[in-house]
Formats: sequence, structure tokens, C-alpha cells
Amino acid sequence: MIVVAGLGLSGSYLLKRLDDEGFEARGFDPRIQDFYVPCGYATNIRKLRDILRSVNLNADDYVEHEGKEVTISGPDMPELTFSSAGICTIDKNRLEKDLISGQGYERTRAKFGPGDTVIDATGVSRYYLGKAENDFLMYTKEYVTAKAGHSDFHFRYFSRGTGYYWEFPLKKGFHVGAGADGVEAINQSLAGFVPERVLSRKIRLKPLFDQMFNRNIIGTGESIGTVSPITGEGIIPSLVSAEILVRCLKEAADVEELKVLYGKRIRDRFAAYTGLFDLLTASRNGKLLTLRNIRNARYAKADFEGFGIDLKIWKIIRRLIPI
Ligand SMILES: Cc1cc2nc3c(=O)[nH]c(=O)nc-3n(C[C@H](O)[C@H](O)[C@H](O)COP(=O)(O)OP(=O)(O)OC[C@H]3O[C@@H](n4cnc5c(N)ncnc54)[C@H](O)[C@@H]3O)c2cc1C
Repeated sequence: MIVVAGLGLSGSYLLKRLDDEGFEARGFDPRIQDFYVPCGYATNIRKLRDILRSVNLNADDYVEHEGKEVTISGPDMPELTFSSAGICTIDKNRLEKDLISGQGYERTRAKFGPGDTVIDATGVSRYYLGKAENDFLMYTKEYVTAKAGHSDFHFRYFSRGTGYYWEFPLKKGFHVGAGADGVEAINQSLAGFVPERVLSRKIRLKPLFDQMFNRNIIGTGESIGTVSPITGEGIIPSLVSAEILVRCLKEAADVEELKVLYGKRIRDRFAAYTGLFDLLTASRNGKLLTLRNIRNARYAKADFEGFGIDLKIWKIIRRLIPI
């Protein structure tokens, strides 16, 4: 039996895919139905369409707001406007609900026996895998508000990789939030907004691809750090990691073979995140201008594009070095 612990997006998607593939699987999550999980709900509609096709769901049914323009600013950078390359917000709660509809699951912590393979999809808590060594978590706070400073997607980066502030439009209202080293920067960014809801949790910004397993427990999604270290994007990456896991479960003869196969594919698929985490660390240490990081900057452009933002580097260079 495969026990899926955690029914966020990675676990919900996994449970559905395992059922479709004929595996005996059961899901567990103590979270109360419709609990509003802190997340900006921003994703790339083009990528989501491809992924949800495999579970016969139409990504467009979940779209809240389709972005046209994205503004990005920073401490040394004035506000620049980029075109959307598919960025949108989705109703993530409804998607999770639809994925597990008709599946076998319980609203409680996972129950399992010695012969079971347990998938830890518990996100930031890594409840079953256990605490990670040298983890990197950032504190976040998000409001659901009626108004924001911008009508479309907006990011404002804080100095030296210490976090960012965001405004993401929904069908009605906005997600306005910030993630940073200290609560002061967060509270300053959110000052003046009247929240309809206040949400808060930590986000994992470090890939933990060397800490994905613990005996018969296998991690997927944010529990193993499939989150972009520079944009905090975790929706598509968590779905991708779950899909890789399904394919490996189909191929592997036993848990040990599964670990080798799945570990390699995750490291290959998310190799850029390791480079981006180096970039983040270098920025935080004020050592950005090394050859290795100039190479890693290419990953950053690709990462923004993957999130759905057509990041034109020349626009940034022209504003930073006026010629
Ligand atoms: C404030 C904020 C904003 C974000 N905005 C974006 C965004 O706009 N776009 C984007 O792509 N990503 C965003 N992310 C990241 C993204 O939300 C996550 O990386 C992604 O949703 C992770 O999915 P997951 O399924 O791995 O984990 P989660 O969605 O965290 O799900 C984990 C589940 O495990 C359950 N659980 C916990 N303990 C147990 C237990 N003992 N037994 C069983 N179940 C348990 C929890 O109840 C939860 O439902 C944001 C994150 C934060 C914090």
C-alpha cells in the first residue's frame, strides 16, 4: 500500500495519478476542508494545462486572473514592466478538492504499517521525513485584500536577497504579501492595507535533494524543496515532482530501486534550483559578481520565464547601466 501523507497540491495530484495507474493508495491530511492555505496562487497557465491534461482536468476552469503585464522593482532598480508569458492566479483550493474527489482519504495524520511505502507530501513541515540539516526557511505573511497598489502582477525585491513583496490579482481582490528575513520588512510592506484575511507560514527556499528519503519514506513537493529559491514558485514544481514520482513507482522493482531512480531524476530535473540557491546565498553574502554566479544568472532568467514572466534582461541592464 502507498500512503500519501499530505494533500496539498503535490499529494492530491499524486493520489489521483496513483489511482489512475492502478496502485493501491490512501491519502491523509488533518487540514480541515476549505482551510485557506497561504499561497499567492500564481502559476503559469501554459504549464498547468499540460500537467492537468494527465488527470483529465481543464486548467482554464481554475483561472482567477490572467496576467497581461508584470511589474518588477528592486532597491537598485526602478519599476520595470514585462509582458506576461502565461502568469495567472488559480483557485488552488478548488483544484486540490477536485483532485481528491472520489479518492480514498481521511482527514487525519497518516496511518501506516511496516510494509507500506509512505510519501511525505507534508510541505514545509517534513512531518515524516524529519527535520532537515541546514534547511533554509523564510517567514511569509499574506493578506487577502480588496485593493492593491497595482492592477496586475507586481513584485518588489528587497535588498541583497532578503525577500520580496508581491501583489497578485484574484477574480475578486488580491493576494498581497511578503516573505523576508525579518518581520519588520514584511510589516512595513503590508502597512496601510486592510486585510480580509491574514495568512502566514514559512516557505522552504532550499532544495533538499540530498535529504529526500528516510527508510521507506519518500518526499515530494515542498518537503524536498521543489520551490524556486528566487521566485518562491512551488505550484508547478510540486506537481512535476509528484509526476516524476509516479513514473518512478511504475518502473522501480522495490523501494531501494525507487530511491535511486527518483533521486536522480529529481536532481536532474531541478538542477537549476541548486544553482539558484547558490545565487541567492551569494546575493545575501554580497558576493554576486563571480563567474559561477554570472552563469547561474542565466538560470534566473529561465526561472522567471517558467513562472510566466517574459523577463527581458536588456531592459534591466539598460536601466542599471544607462548608456
Ligand atoms: C505565502 C506563500 C505564497 C506562495 N505563493 C506561491 C505562488 O504564488 N505560486 C507558486 O507557485 N507557489 C507559491 N508558494 C509555494 C507553494 O505554495 C508551495 O511550494 C506548494 O504549494 C507546495 O505544495 P505541497 O503539496 O508540496 O505542500 P503543501 O501545499 O504545503 O501541502 C502540505 C500538506 O500537508 C499537510 N500535512 C502537514 N502535516 C501533516 C501530517 N502529519 N500528516 C498528513 N498531512 C500533513 C498539510 O495540512 C498540507 O495540506 C507560496 C508559498 C507561500 C508560503
